Amino acid sequence: MDCWPSIVVATPAHSAVGGPLSYRSERLLAVGSLVRVPLGSREVLGVVWDCPTVPPAGLDPAKAKWVAAVLDGLPPLNTRWLQLVRFAAQYYQRSLGEVALAALPPQLRELDNTQLARRLKRRAKALAASGVAAAGDPATALAHTLSDEQSETLQALAAATAPVLLFGATGSGKTEIYLRATQQVLEIAAPAAQVDAETGEIGQAPPATQVLVMVPEINLTPQLEARFRERFEPAFGADAVVCLHSGMTPAQRLASWLAAHTGQARIVLGTRMAIFASLPGLRLIVVDEEHDPSYKSQEGARYSARDLAVYRAQLESKALAALPGHPAEPGAARCQVLLGSATPSLESWHAAEQGRYQRLAMPSRIGGGALPRLRLVDMHHQPKGAVLAPPLLAAMAERIARSEQCLVLLNRRGYAPVLACHACDWKSSCPHCSAYRVFHKLDRTLRCHHCGFTERVPRACPDCGNVDIAPVGRGTEQIEEQLTALLADARRPDGGPPRVARMDADSTRLKGSLEVQLATMHSGEVDVLVGTQMIAKGHDFRRITLVASVNADAALFASDYRAPERLFALLMQAAGRAGRAAEHSAGSEMWVQTWYPQHPLFTQLQRHDFPAFAAEQLVEREDAGMPPFGHQALLRADARTQDAARAFLNAAAQAAAELPHRADVTLYPAVPLTIQRVANVERAQMLVEAESRGALQRFLAAWQPVLHATRSHPDARGLLRWAVDVDPLAI
Ligand code: ADP
Ligand code: ZN
Ligand code: ZN
Repeated sequence: MDCWPSIVVATPAHSAVGGPLSYRSERLLAVGSLVRVPLGSREVLGVVWDCPTVPPAGLDPAKAKWVAAVLDGLPPLNTRWLQLVRFAAQYYQRSLGEVALAALPPQLRELDNTQLARRLKRRAKALAASGVAAAGDPATALAHTLSDEQSETLQALAAATAPVLLFGATGSGKTEIYLRATQQVLEIAAPAAQVDAETGEIGQAPPATQVLVMVPEINLTPQLEARFRERFEPAFGADAVVCLHSGMTPAQRLASWLAAHTGQARIVLGTRMAIFASLPGLRLIVVDEEHDPSYKSQEGARYSARDLAVYRAQLESKALAALPGHPAEPGAARCQVLLGSATPSLESWHAAEQGRYQRLAMPSRIGGGALPRLRLVDMHHQPKGAVLAPPLLAAMAERIARSEQCLVLLNRRGYAPVLACHACDWKSSCPHCSAYRVFHKLDRTLRCHHCGFTERVPRACPDCGNVDIAPVGRGTEQIEEQLTALLADARRPDGGPPRVARMDADSTRLKGSLEVQLATMHSGEVDVLVGTQMIAKGHDFRRITLVASVNADAALFASDYRAPERLFALLMQAAGRAGRAAEHSAGSEMWVQTWYPQHPLFTQLQRHDFPAFAAEQLVEREDAGMPPFGHQALLRADARTQDAARAFLNAAAQAAAELPHRADVTLYPAVPLTIQRVANVERAQMLVEAESRGALQRFLAAWQPVLHATRSHPDARGLLRWAVDVDPLAI
């Protein structure tokens, strides 16, 4: 009997065909099956969304194209996965085809059945060779004896019914909570396959339980991966833990995806993209450092992996609860979500205050050590022009003499953000962007950090010929250079001069260099590490006793309403790198150089009082109707000219006038982005605000077809692309 499956294929972001397309097939196809279908002159990968046995109205059966092949070797994607994708597409205003296909590993598009079968066979062989799943106990010998706070947290976690916000100080042992929670899930016995009472046939066995652990950047925390592997591979096999992130080759990504999809992998460790992994047995989602902005995608569908994690866990829980004969073990019939941070996002904090999330706190550091003491350096009282305050340098020299380590944080890479001529007005502007090119002294280049345009540093001013062109401001390269000079008289216990190193996007560009740099830090070879926010994240360096932030003032007065939240989190996380070994914690310090030591943010930082900081910020946000109280979206436009970009936005706003939900939202005037031009593309945006998420969603849904139509408006000539960003991180 012929069927008429509707199939989702990759569609460009804003093509009008966003939904499934109808095809014809000789047999019934399971929903979620992966297929290959003709599209135009090509054959493409598709996902079966539905499979009616009658042709849909309006389809001429004679004209319907046939499904070319079904990837039989793979089990279909389950309905929860399809629901997750559908929700993400709707909520973030993208086409279903774009989101669905972007959620699958790219290599899957290229494989036919034979090739796929070969891969699966190869995997099975490799697994057999590695001697899999001689189910033993997890390597509990490696596990720590839990602290009281950890035990209490785990008990509360087991009983929790809402999403859990784990508010744990830096060094409180959150990773051990993730490991134990994972262990509990993996130990849940999968429910036995149902036997059909009539026929006596044994149904399909339910999938083995699985855990998804998300981290902001996997490469920054190789320790986490190592700990999951050493804890679980002995008992669950070499394939039990797989990674999913954009740094992997297409072949590696496919292998991990297949392992997760077939249930062989029990734990997926990944970055935001992993939220879309197919995990048939999903029972726990951990979002580590849940406040991290990298969970929000900045291209394509601009989804928040953290928010989708909460949604996905709910979906899975509902499905599990509805399952007949699920095991009676408590907690077995649900999927939990665990968001962890020492500095939670204000969104999650607010949800916890309202009782929508359950907050579990671990305020103490493992071993009882104290959090580092904050020392504010008032730059008014330092020698004129000093980049690094003398008392800070003295404190660093003392640490070095005791073979303790220091971190110096500056959120700007390169040598200097601008190179300028003092005879005329020349500055190192980028010809393609409304931004300066950064001076990199090491390779003597001027590099644009927005479009990548790079040139050798000119010998003389290109405008007036003056040879005296000089750097203005400083970046990590310069701080590294100055620290090496300023600490030249300090001595390590072995009598040698201190070793200063730098870690940022430049120093870690080459594959493997990050690992090497982390290793020199862990081994104690390096005394002082200078770097960008990269050095503040997640590392468990044991010998750091001093962390310094040398120039963060700009963030105190930034126009972005989230800037204080970001700065507080950054400084708190950076401070969290110090004194992690209890024997070092007593004397550990966080130094902050500032011209505004009276700023209230520092008072709360001094007390390590995140709750007070959050409370104050939330009052401000509520007064201003900002998230999480108000809800926002941005309509963004890129064009050849700023006029064209804004004309599109204005036309879109005008065309919205008659829409049903127009009165529920505020549309603000179109404005250029802070960095208005990047790579010769002019950028503008329009803010959309609503009091409720529902109102915003209803308006955006109604606006979507209008936006498509506005694209061809005469005013929008010169428009290159547009996009809606729902719940934007920066406005
Ligand atoms: P967080 O992620 O909360 O900053 P970590 O999970 O990195 O903290 O833990 C900090 C350190 O404490 C790590 O070195 C970890 O191995 C150690 N640790 C965690 N739990 C325990 C425990 N119960 N007993 C001893 N050491 C522990
Ligand atoms: Zn000049
Ligand atoms: Zn540029």
